[in-house]
Amino acid sequence: MTIEPSVSSSPQPVLAAEPPARVSPMMEQYHEIKAANPGLLLFYRMGDFYELFFDDAEVASRALGITLTKRGKHLGQDIPMCGVPVERADDYLHRLIALGHRVAVCEQTEDPAAARARKSVVRRDVVRLITPGTLTEDTLLDARANNYLLAIARAKAAGGDRIGLAWIDISTSEFIVTECSGPELAATLARINPNEAIVTDALYSDPDYGPLLRELAAVTPLTRDVFDSATAERRLCDYFAVATMDGLAAMSRLEATAAAACITYVERTQLGKKPPLSPPSRELSGATMAIDPATRANLELTRTLAGERRGSLLDAIDCTVTAAGSRLLAQRLAAPLTDAEAIAHRLDAVAAFVAEPMLRDSLRSTLRAAPDMSRALARLSVGRGGPRDLAALRDGVLAADDALAQLGTLAELPQEIRAAAAALRRPSRDLAQEFSKALAEELPLQKRDGGFVRSNYLPALDEARELRDASRQVVAAMQARYAEDTGIKTLKIRHNNVLGYFVEVTAQHGDRLMTAPLNATFIHRQTLAGQVRFTTAELGEIEAKIANAGERALGLELEVFEQLAAMVIAAGDDLRAAAQAFALLDVTLALAKLAADDNYVRPEVDSSLAFAIEGGRHPVVEQALKRDGQPFIANACDLSPAPGQQSGQIWLLTGPNMAGKSTFLRQNALIALLAQIGSFVPASRARIGIVDRLFSRVGAADDLARGRSTFMVEMVETAVILNQASDRALVILDEIGRGTATFDGLSIAWAAIEHLHEANRCRALFATHYHELTALSSKLPRLFNATVRVKEWHGEVVFLHEVMPGSADRSYGIQVAKLAGLPPSVISRAKAVLAKLEANDRGQSVRALADDLPLFALTARAPAEPALPSEAEQLIEAVRGLHPDEMSPREALEALYALQAKLPKR
Ligand code: ADP
Ligand code: MG
Repeated sequence: MTIEPSVSSSPQPVLAAEPPARVSPMMEQYHEIKAANPGLLLFYRMGDFYELFFDDAEVASRALGITLTKRGKHLGQDIPMCGVPVERADDYLHRLIALGHRVAVCEQTEDPAAARARKSVVRRDVVRLITPGTLTEDTLLDARANNYLLAIARAKAAGGDRIGLAWIDISTSEFIVTECSGPELAATLARINPNEAIVTDALYSDPDYGPLLRELAAVTPLTRDVFDSATAERRLCDYFAVATMDGLAAMSRLEATAAAACITYVERTQLGKKPPLSPPSRELSGATMAIDPATRANLELTRTLAGERRGSLLDAIDCTVTAAGSRLLAQRLAAPLTDAEAIAHRLDAVAAFVAEPMLRDSLRSTLRAAPDMSRALARLSVGRGGPRDLAALRDGVLAADDALAQLGTLAELPQEIRAAAAALRRPSRDLAQEFSKALAEELPLQKRDGGFVRSNYLPALDEARELRDASRQVVAAMQARYAEDTGIKTLKIRHNNVLGYFVEVTAQHGDRLMTAPLNATFIHRQTLAGQVRFTTAELGEIEAKIANAGERALGLELEVFEQLAAMVIAAGDDLRAAAQAFALLDVTLALAKLAADDNYVRPEVDSSLAFAIEGGRHPVVEQALKRDGQPFIANACDLSPAPGQQSGQIWLLTGPNMAGKSTFLRQNALIALLAQIGSFVPASRARIGIVDRLFSRVGAADDLARGRSTFMVEMVETAVILNQASDRALVILDEIGRGTATFDGLSIAWAAIEHLHEANRCRALFATHYHELTALSSKLPRLFNATVRVKEWHGEVVFLHEVMPGSADRSYGIQVAKLAGLPPSVISRAKAVLAKLEANDRGQSVRALADDLPLFALTARAPAEPALPSEAEQLIEAVRGLHPDEMSPREALEALYALQAKLPKR
């Protein structure tokens, strides 16, 4: 991708008819580079700015809200341009990448002076392609989230399409492959949640998959050769430097195709550099709980419906203290396990620390000091690392010893922790020792800033530094001498990158130095508004010495850096293993802390179809209520098959709005999910037979973004459940059918329950406001009615949030509307309509109803709210008459007794 400064043919032919529309050499170069990087925004370096031209400029100025200007003409047309300062480029890159753009960064690769000497345009070269899925820089990455690049390959087969998936996080070296069927793709994509996906052009425009793909954050369609299955094995073997695929994990051909596409794209974006990747590990299909995108959104697993992390399940349970731990927890939450034994191993590990609060706290503070080793390692491996990355690895290895010593105090290590401890022992301690000797206390971000190697580490470096610093002393002495000689007290010797060292005096003294005799010593360089700048022969000499010594010192430092980086790369596998062990420890400790703080219990997870929760709570709502000092009312739920039965039960939950139906439904789904990621659960007891698919739907959810009517969405999503749920699924349906007319909705809900009961035979919770549905329980043996209790008090509803067997007698909609502050005239009118409806029974036609009821306008004059009972009136009057500020405590107490005496006797 080297771009020669002289270009043979301009990408756009110059029309003969055009007046003197000469293409400038710079524009020629620009077009050449632009053509070599299709689909990317070109950041074209010019001095202290990256400039964007033409369409790129328009896209970027809109996306970044920066001014669009013009720069010269191309073929007679103005050239649109916008630019970002180099030192703030990261900010702008971040925003463009977040919007799904890809950027080619083009630098000047020679000194502009050299180009001037050649009478040519400065050489430039693309040094980096930045795409959302191939980032390594800390400034561009979210520390708490993985950054996945996903390749998707399809094979058409007789029994339906097969899809191969491979995903990589080059900032942490993870590399995973799997295969799924066409209909499973949506759930799989939602689980992986890639930052960028690459696909073939054909798949991108496929009528079935295209729409799904276009919903992803960033999708890059690529030519077929990247997805060529014939060359896939060879490309993989080359990357991992192995002779045959036997050296890598067993993979299907389709998985290998996707994996090869991934690495090919990575090599392209890293311009041939090979970031280290773990050999692909294969995820067996069915090893994780399938959760489709709608369910994830609905249960607010990692983001709330409003798109915030705060308020999501992940946010509520994330007590990790490291970025790597946070990423691992997010991974686990995205992919709950379906293997009871693997879950038990995780639970064993959590349990070990639940019982050890002291050890937990001290290990957590050790981890807090262990930096993000895997990302530091990845940066060093692609040559983008800095001194702080070296220090991160040193600190990580030192923390490993610390952690091991603490783990040693546990009587017995559960299997997962034992494996983590073994990994922590792997990295050579010599590395940490060498780094401790070599690295200074304070480290610059960039290696080119120098100053990161300790003195006394390398004698030659110390020498060069002394020379440099001594010369600086000489400069300081020189300033004093010049000030003395000229009598100008304010004379200064300064330094900048353009002039180097120079003598500076204020404008009023400038003339003195420019006239004899002083002009023999002082040579004028520059006149500014307030200052005049000079140089001297002596200063020039000393400057050269300083520069030489400085350059030599920096050169030596960079050599040390390369040696240390090489040690890191050689120890890469061990360091990576240790980093993973830290992440695992962090997650385990965090879940233990959560369990201890929020009073969670260890769930029993087995291969039955049981679902028995006692004292269940909603993990997020509970925390929110706790912050307000409110209790959460725990509720039991039992969907286990009755003795002698083969299938789980369905609960039909009725109750007024705001009673807590949705909360109850979701808490049970979340408990199952937490149990299967290997976490303790918010309940007093829980036994769960593995759930293989989780579905959650809410009636009439808005999905305007996708341009579908809300009811259509509701039905499409319900269809997925009814078509896909097996007897191992857990289904949550919240007010399905709400989005259409009463009778339609009721009929659909009715039929859906029958289908779940008869065909899917899965465990399910169904909340509804159609009380008519409760009649179904007499017909369907595994359907049970439950309701959320409320109390009525002086015409107001009081929500008890208790789930009981039985059904709600009415919906209290009007009472809730009143709580919400609907105007009294509307409330009393609604009551009148309701009374009429109830008297007539709901079966009557709407027309008859309309005939029967006077028009709304007539009732505007209807009596307002009935007067309050007289006791209440009296009470209100009495309270109004109190003046708390003027009362003594004793008077206040007496007033309270007096008020109580006015209450009606019970
Ligand atoms: P519904 O779906 O019946 O309309 P929600 O589940 O949305 O009701 O609950 C309404 C509010 O009631 C919640 O926001 C929460 O603050 C409160 N709530 C629900 N369940 C409980 C509970 N078990 N304990 C305490 N408060 C609860
Ligand atoms: Mg609800």
